[in-house]
Amino acid sequence: MSRPFILDPLFRSLKTLSGVGDRTRTHFERLIGGERIFDLLAHTPIDIIDRSYMPSIIDAEAGRLATLTVQIVKHTPPTRRNLPYRVHAKDGTGTIDLVFFRAYPDYMLKTYPIGAELIISGKIDIYREHPQIVHPDVMGGSESKDIPPIEPIYPLTQGINHKALLKAMHSALGFCPKLPEWLDPAYQKKMKWGEWHKAIALLHSPQSAQDFDPNTKTRERLAYDEALANQLTLALMRHRHKKKNGISYETNGALRQQLTQNLPFTLTGAQLKSLEEIDRDMGQKIRMMRLLQGDVGSGKTIVAALSMMNALDSHMQAAFMAPTEILARQHYEGLRPLLTPLGIRLVCLTGRNKGKERDVLTQQIQNGAAQIVIGTHALFQDSIEFQNLGLAIIDEQHRFGVDQRLKLSNKGKGVDVLVMTATPIPRTLSLTAYGDLDVSKLDEKPPGRQPIDTLLFSTDKIQEMIEGLQRQVQKNARVYWVCPLVEESEILDVTAAEERFQILESVFRDKVGLIHGRMKADEKDTVMKKFVAGDLSILVATTVIEVGVNVPEATIMVIESAERFGLAQLHQLRGRVGRGADKSYCFLLYKAPLSQTARERLSIMRDTEDGFLISEKDLELRGSGDVLGTKQSGLPDFKFIDLAAHGELLSTARDDAKLIIQKDSELKTKRGDALRTLLYLFECDQAIGYLQGG
Ligand code: ADP
Ligand code: MG
Repeated sequence: MSRPFILDPLFRSLKTLSGVGDRTRTHFERLIGGERIFDLLAHTPIDIIDRSYMPSIIDAEAGRLATLTVQIVKHTPPTRRNLPYRVHAKDGTGTIDLVFFRAYPDYMLKTYPIGAELIISGKIDIYREHPQIVHPDVMGGSESKDIPPIEPIYPLTQGINHKALLKAMHSALGFCPKLPEWLDPAYQKKMKWGEWHKAIALLHSPQSAQDFDPNTKTRERLAYDEALANQLTLALMRHRHKKKNGISYETNGALRQQLTQNLPFTLTGAQLKSLEEIDRDMGQKIRMMRLLQGDVGSGKTIVAALSMMNALDSHMQAAFMAPTEILARQHYEGLRPLLTPLGIRLVCLTGRNKGKERDVLTQQIQNGAAQIVIGTHALFQDSIEFQNLGLAIIDEQHRFGVDQRLKLSNKGKGVDVLVMTATPIPRTLSLTAYGDLDVSKLDEKPPGRQPIDTLLFSTDKIQEMIEGLQRQVQKNARVYWVCPLVEESEILDVTAAEERFQILESVFRDKVGLIHGRMKADEKDTVMKKFVAGDLSILVATTVIEVGVNVPEATIMVIESAERFGLAQLHQLRGRVGRGADKSYCFLLYKAPLSQTARERLSIMRDTEDGFLISEKDLELRGSGDVLGTKQSGLPDFKFIDLAAHGELLSTARDDAKLIIQKDSELKTKRGDALRTLLYLFECDQAIGYLQGG
């Protein structure tokens, strides 16, 4: 099966379009984040220019955008530098000046030939009691017919102006084919949605501000198509995954029982319930594909460990993948004392293991000497082979993409997969990233935790805060001090952290440590170990500590320039404290003055510790923009879907996809055929791969 011919025009290079050459093509590609004509068609207008006001010169009101039919009378080039070039024009009622800064006389004479009748458009200004237009748009000669009175405005970039974009878009619309309908006819009728190619055309000819509402018929239809492609991909993946014969494990074997007995605490009700659900999946011959969702500190790690015992009791290996090196090491260090007494052999493999050391580890993984392998994404590299991987656990905090999850689970036959996520993902987002996974929830924290007090502090008061810290440190408090993200540049982050470190060092001497992403792995370890042991009281860090670090004695979290962090991220960071029995505090430092939204966001952090509430509010306040920093999070990047507005459509698309798979899992019917076209259109390569795989 290969791409349907009907899509060819949409997959052609932008160079095909009129007005797009080799050089402009790269600008366009950067702007639209794609190379195909379809990617340009998905570039959505954000405003309109209304040119329908067509007065005569004498009636033209100042400040309004007017379209005038004029005759060019005379040119007056500037007499001094910094003066504008003026073109004088008239109609039957009066005269007007067209004003240009930095104009080339030759070009001006060619564009505005004396005596010519032109239609021009622009904002009317009054200068010394005389009307003028600065840098008008020329719409054509006076005999031009159908000049559209309303023009869409698009986001632009350097090297591409409004006119160039309009021209390319106009040309692109000419390539837009009529595609077979993939929507369910009854649903389409109910929603009153038009055909796909018409929706695309309408998207690019907005008539009023109302057309920018995400809930117009046009925008809804296009968003639904994208949602359906996304959900169908996930559903196909899941279908294929479950169909492959899974392994049925011994779920209450010896190791499992021993580990349960050795735990220094009793499991919470939520942990027990999740384990039951996991055991039920693992005990059956279908493959598990389960998401374990639990707020920070809810105790996911131990659930992971107990699940791994099922695999080991059935003489299979388990892999545990963490998003960062620090976290992988920590899981390893944390689980080792629990597991080695049971005779379990576990290893840790990350990017730092090189040369001989790495060879030894890969050997142990391959020959089964290592029963549990903990690591980072190093685990799914091609060079890593397992003897018989049974269970893959991915502590992903949604940093791994669908592709990466898949790679790890393909390292064995019928591998069961458990994905753990700490950041509470709003439902709409989890739908797009996971579709219809089975979900277990840890909605109960281990007992004895006290609420964390969150305080907002303006940076002006930093001195006072440091004095307060001195008192706490004397009482042996342990403190995280997180430095801000500086324009997403790791190097600048590090500088900020180093500066803060020096300032604190002058106060706290050798009780302060520094940790950041650019340090060598063993340097990071040393610092982390000292902090865990209590030799350091204050740990200055960039966001490397964000995920998962577990030091129950730490009770104070300071976050600098908190207004620059996403709420989900702040929540993660704050979750590093309040893990032991002692009262914990979180100080959010901000630079005054705060914008209204920033103030609201920080207030949410102060007022609640409920991760779900926080992320829903975040989605609301940020709108559809870059939710949770989707780029780095492995969540899909959408063309038409507005997550804040289209949540309902996503759920419907999920149900639609489920039904499609039930009735036509190979996409062999007529609708199935159209759906294949849809999958190709959105480049859902995995889904296509599955269909090809049979
Ligand atoms: P997270 O869900 O954020 O990964 P962890 O698994 O790191 O949380 O657990 C946080 C802390 O709570 C750890 O110190 C862990 O040992 C402890 N813990 C886990 N389960 C329980 C429990 N049932 N009772 C008491 N403490 C627990
Ligand atoms: Mg964790």
